[in-house]
Amino acid sequence: MSGFQEARSGTGYDVEERRLREEVASCTLILNSLDILGYSGHVSARLPDGQHILIQSFDQSRASLGPDDLLICDMEGKVVVGPKGIRAPAEVYLHTEVLKARPDVNSVAHFHDDLATTFTIVKNKPLLAVKNHAIRWASGIPVHPDPSHVSDSELGHALAKTLGGHQALQIRAHGQVIVAESVKALLIDSVHFVENAKALYDAHLLGEVEPLTAAELEDFGRTFNRDRHVAKLWKYYVGRAVDDGIIPETWSSVVA
Ligand SMILES: [Zn+2]
Repeated sequence: MSGFQEARSGTGYDVEERRLREEVASCTLILNSLDILGYSGHVSARLPDGQHILIQSFDQSRASLGPDDLLICDMEGKVVVGPKGIRAPAEVYLHTEVLKARPDVNSVAHFHDDLATTFTIVKNKPLLAVKNHAIRWASGIPVHPDPSHVSDSELGHALAKTLGGHQALQIRAHGQVIVAESVKALLIDSVHFVENAKALYDAHLLGEVEPLTAAELEDFGRTFNRDRHVAKLWKYYVGRAVDDGIIPETWSSVVA
């Protein structure tokens, strides 16, 4: 039995894997319902052994993903648990290389939000942290210059290098990468990332932009409890998705 199979059969691992499967599926369905994910893009989560990830398949619809549809890939992007012949997303390397480079990150989202992407194709209009919850990106939102699909580990490694210690990046003329400590936090960060881009876009239409200063962001940070905020918004979005019939009540790890 491989080390991974042994870990998987260990006490409590199945419960933890099931929880992560339900969280990744819920996060995907909610981001799809908010039009942040669409026909492409994906959410991944690091499994408790640290050396494998959960991610959806290449062509599974983001509108109908279930916990059991998720594949397990190793950190080289190879499918190790999933139906025979099934393909991981072409950009699985974006997830594996970021997770390899960032031990503090346990979940990664990649999507292609048109409005946020616009900031990568206009001169002198960088995507800045202008709303209070954009404090998450106070260190900056780097732009990865290579618009290619992140379809091998070398391209993924280069992207992880551009991300560095930041919590999000834009890929020029392509899309976004958001990283977080948990799937729940990743959902909330993804929502706030798109809100912040929309606010900045609207502000540019209205007039001269006055982004929050470093001191103002710091002030906000003093009164902000990230864990409490994540728990509140997760409950709101999951509750709404259950009411709308997007998430079944039987997903007991995520439905309180
Ligand atoms: Zn992409």
